[in-house]
Amino acid sequence: MKEQAVDLAIVGCSALMQEESGLGFEDDVTIEVKEGRIAAIGPSCRKAGQEAERWIDGRGLYALPGFINAHTHVAMTLFRGAVEDVAVDSWFNDHVWPMEVNLEARDVWLGAMLGCAEMIESGVTTFVDHYFFADQVAAAVEASGLRANLGWTFLDDQGDTGLGRSIAFSEEWNGGAAGRITTSVAPHAPYTCSDRQLSLAASAAERLGVRVHIHAAEHLEQTEASVRERGMTPVQQLDRAGVLAAGALIAHGCGVVEDDLSLLEASRDRVAFAHCPKVYLKHGLAPLTPIRALLERGVAVGLGTDGAAGCNTLDVAESLRLMALTQKHEERDARWMPLNTALQLAGPGSAAAVGLDGLIGALAPGYRADIVLVDLSGSHCRPLHDPAAAIVYSMRASDVRTTIVDGSVLMEDRKLSTVSTQEILDEVRERLPRLLDTAHGRRMARYPLARTAEPREAG
Ligand SMILES: [Zn+2]
Repeated sequence: MKEQAVDLAIVGCSALMQEESGLGFEDDVTIEVKEGRIAAIGPSCRKAGQEAERWIDGRGLYALPGFINAHTHVAMTLFRGAVEDVAVDSWFNDHVWPMEVNLEARDVWLGAMLGCAEMIESGVTTFVDHYFFADQVAAAVEASGLRANLGWTFLDDQGDTGLGRSIAFSEEWNGGAAGRITTSVAPHAPYTCSDRQLSLAASAAERLGVRVHIHAAEHLEQTEASVRERGMTPVQQLDRAGVLAAGALIAHGCGVVEDDLSLLEASRDRVAFAHCPKVYLKHGLAPLTPIRALLERGVAVGLGTDGAAGCNTLDVAESLRLMALTQKHEERDARWMPLNTALQLAGPGSAAAVGLDGLIGALAPGYRADIVLVDLSGSHCRPLHDPAAAIVYSMRASDVRTTIVDGSVLMEDRKLSTVSTQEILDEVRERLPRLLDTAHGRRMARYPLARTAEPREAG
């Protein structure tokens, strides 16, 4: 039988590939895509380009595995920039949770579509989401063409209805959107869900063969409060409830302490962290996720943005830069978090953290064809001594020219093919007064921990 022509060929690009010494760029590479996977990648062959159903001229562009957003709430684009300069407990209790009471299914779909557009434009090809009306987020994933792991958030305040909905969603949507959707059971946090609900979530996740996605140990004061009130850290609480045994993606973990590390090491094949540095900086939370200690114990760490209400952007390249910078600063060591480690974390590291290692996060035969092409010709990148340095420290989201997921081109030369941002924004604008109205005095839950530290004098 005659070998079928490839579906897509990207010809003549420089590609980030695994070499013996680590990740490095190879020049004049052709990437061939067949049935959604990378079929071949290697020295350029013009013939391949001519024989492909579709070909993209990659000359002068840098091919990277698509960025992975390991933790977000994509529909929170609706609240971008609406709450600034307030302490984290007030951010939740006085603003975000009262606004989220107003959410309707259609709002979440619109917000998710906006977020999907932004992620495609900034080279994100996979995101891990935790939110209400997750079926609407799933519909946005189907329509936009992105890849995602989705969980339907539940809180103790919703009783067992919320838990049941989260489990049912995981069961129904795992493998959805032609396999681009995977799911998680999604308790909000150990401080908003009971131990009983955490245990039920863990056993449901095990039964369904998915993991738990949860916020925990968000900052050190939260860990200290947990020890004071429960006699254990949030990580120990998750362990006690069976969540670590079931497998979990834990957002933040900035309050992970020495006592937690051995538990995490023992669960390293199924427990990972999502690190979202911009929100820690913005909310003044400390310290940072202990990335170095976690990596030393073999625990995967992925990069995320968190929701745009706190992070303002869904730009993982920005998270990558902030991670590398804050790691150097936190460790007081300019040698730590070298470029190669930063790129490893953004690629294979994040893929492992979100449970999709071996499928995404690298440009290699057999991997899903989630590829972005970046233009590093801007004056902010030139002269280009080292493309890895340009990607970590100079590139802007707008340098992403083309975004491909599962072999489908979702943006070519900055032109989106699956989302009409203007139409969505027009509809969102009509809904904003209702969404931002908090006069009803209700909220989703209560963020329990007022920060004890006195703020420093302004000025
Ligand atoms: Zn979050």
